[in-house]
Amino acid sequence: MKLQLKNTFINELPADANLENTRRQVENAVYSFVTPKKTANPKVLHVSQEMAAELGILEEETGTEFFKNIVTGNEVYPATKPFAMCYAGHQFGNWAGQLGDGRAINLFEIEHQNKNWKVQLKGAGETPYSRTADGLAVLRSSIREYLCSEAMFHLGVPTTRALSLSLSGDQVLRDVLYDGNPAYEKGAIVARTTPSFLRFGNYEIFAARKDLKNLQILLDYTLKQHFPQIGSPSKESYIQLFKAVSENTLDMIVHWQRVGFVHGVMNTDNMSILGLTIDYGPYGWLEDFDFGWTPNTTDHQNKRYRYGNQPNMGLWNLYQLANALYPIIEDAKPLETVLNQYKIDFEHKSLQMMQSKLGLQLVEENDLSLIQDLEEILQLTPTDMTIFFRLLSNFSADTVGLKMVEQAFYNLKDLTGTIKSRWNHWFDKYRARLQKETQSQQQRKNKMDAINPKYVLRNYMAQLAIDTADKKDYALINELFELLKKPYSEQPEKEKWFAKRPDWAKNKIGCSMLSCSS
Ligand code: AMP
Ligand code: MG
Repeated sequence: MKLQLKNTFINELPADANLENTRRQVENAVYSFVTPKKTANPKVLHVSQEMAAELGILEEETGTEFFKNIVTGNEVYPATKPFAMCYAGHQFGNWAGQLGDGRAINLFEIEHQNKNWKVQLKGAGETPYSRTADGLAVLRSSIREYLCSEAMFHLGVPTTRALSLSLSGDQVLRDVLYDGNPAYEKGAIVARTTPSFLRFGNYEIFAARKDLKNLQILLDYTLKQHFPQIGSPSKESYIQLFKAVSENTLDMIVHWQRVGFVHGVMNTDNMSILGLTIDYGPYGWLEDFDFGWTPNTTDHQNKRYRYGNQPNMGLWNLYQLANALYPIIEDAKPLETVLNQYKIDFEHKSLQMMQSKLGLQLVEENDLSLIQDLEEILQLTPTDMTIFFRLLSNFSADTVGLKMVEQAFYNLKDLTGTIKSRWNHWFDKYRARLQKETQSQQQRKNKMDAINPKYVLRNYMAQLAIDTADKKDYALINELFELLKKPYSEQPEKEKWFAKRPDWAKNKIGCSMLSCSS
């Protein structure tokens, strides 16, 4: 396995001078060198061959001892120097100070086919940023990150990706419910990849420490490596950089809203500077459409990161980034302009996104009220978001709307009285609206089916894969991985996954409720 290595990150950014792996505050540095921990009995469970190919790794190479040792941290690839990154963050609205890669270790940087990739292990042992925790990850959360990040990629949602999922062979102690009942679980390691793991928190930490020198070094690196189209460093370039980050962040969140993904922990340390979905923890997929839903039990009180609040939280996070960049830009006005534009763009882009989900190609004045009406009615009685929108593309002038989407309702008996009449009324309006369209029904269906997924990683599906993997049966991981490579395609032999959440999963830990414990 011969990798085309590149070292922009460690060559151009300042390293921590201290080489000891002790937990501490790290100043004047973007990262600290650290070696992954050797593990008891590593075993590769799954490899994303698409991702391996992107890195220039051949399929037969992914089956070797060497590959296994690299992606589990048991061997360091020749001429590379693994490191953990230093960042801070606002967690649930509060400043949390230094956080950093507490259990992520960056292995190396690869340049293949003109694309630059950073490869990182999650769960490969402690780092100077591990604070009070162990630097490890368990199998359940690793399966969730592995499957979901690749599924999101195939859905067309900006995301970090995954190369491999492995068992470490070590046991890891976790108190899943934080109720004083810790138990041992299987340790696991995900190798994940992206052009950049930089987060808003990487910039915030220097601003908080008034270390403008390193803030500027990091900003210049970001410009040069990730936004070369903006041009050379200047105050104007930094403003343009912020604008690009704002636009990318909004685009990502509009995609989340489109597919019904709820991140669960939108803290600024989990916000990528490239606008990629990063750090898959207690995320979840909407089953019944509900703006108020969050899967994260840690956020149950305030529901700060609920589905309907994600766009606002993206903006809140961008305010924190703006504050971090202000000492360099020294002019609040252009930053405010960008933030105000986010709000305007959000209205516009989310309307466009919903129009496309409904198959509306022309823009009509009343589309917004048609959409708002639908969002309200969808929440009157539990209605499966994925199934509803997927079935909607079958609508035609002579269809009985409610009958057509019957499969989406969790309690069919709710469909009486005002709920039923509101639905019928809505379908009448939809029918009338579609008559204004010039595209054929088939054209509309094709377009709708290309943006309303048929298959997503429903919460219970990930849990089934976890439960079977716990019993050493890994077949379901592969089945779901393959299914989710084509989320928009009809896959008749996989139709069983186009189904509502089963009753057993309604209130089950890991399905509808997830903690940050991972
Ligand atoms: P998260 O909310 O999962 O993104 O994590 C927040 C912070 O906690 C990050 O700095 C993580 O690196 C750190 N962290 C989470 N779990 C662990 C762990 N098991 N060991 C060390 N650090 C951790
Ligand atoms: Mg994180």
